[in-house]
Amino acid sequence: MQRKLAAGNWKMNGARADLSMIDRLNTSHPSPDCDILLCPPAHLVSQAVAQAAKGTLKIGAQNCHSAETGAYTGDISAGMFAEIGASHVIVGHSERREGYGETDTDARAKATAAQAAGLIPIVCLGESLSQRDAGDALNVILTQLAGSVPADSEADTLVVAYEPIWAIGTGKIPTMDEIAEVHQALRANLIDALGQTGAAVPLLYGGSVKPANAAGIFALEHVNGALVGGASLTAQDFSPIIQALS
Ligand code: PGA
Repeated sequence: MQRKLAAGNWKMNGARADLSMIDRLNTSHPSPDCDILLCPPAHLVSQAVAQAAKGTLKIGAQNCHSAETGAYTGDISAGMFAEIGASHVIVGHSERREGYGETDTDARAKATAAQAAGLIPIVCLGESLSQRDAGDALNVILTQLAGSVPADSEADTLVVAYEPIWAIGTGKIPTMDEIAEVHQALRANLIDALGQTGAAVPLLYGGSVKPANAAGIFALEHVNGALVGGASLTAQDFSPIIQALS
């Protein structure tokens, strides 16, 4: 069985005062097979870890460098996030791929560094609208999967998130059939690549997940949770999504 995961990605949003929502999320008591994760901006990770310590909520980072240490001004390594209590790190998000030219190779190097540091990488994949319109979505996604996932991943050291670029922050989502088709293909490919491990890797959907559409998405086979941007910024929106999953 795959563990379920409701992961919030605050992106470059949120201030110290907003971490008070952690207290509310910590009282939501999800089922034992469900993890809740918040990934605030890097400067809030340490305080978020302290605030979450009373409950089961986990805290992650949104990006890391692939090196352990070195002359990389402005960067933060996976080991540094692990040292301050993070449990996960998002890698290969389309905003990193598009805005910073990150490739599958970069995503895999970061995921490998994360695993070596004891963090669970959430490896993000997804097609653009023109790729979907051209009938290329599956091909693009499976190529990203093959290039971005470390070969020696275990079921408890890897999460994969399907995030169609055109669904992120737009309020648009694919049809349920389109999400199901992609998740089915991801599962089959992970089993091919990793054997039984691939059957147990949690698969998330991301892109305009809201309280109103979460239950329908979570009912799909091979969808084990969500990576949530805008709707993770308040407990009012994120709590019902967590409830729908657990
Ligand atoms: P969104 O973002 O939920 O605001 O669409 C999702 C993401 O980018 O992870």
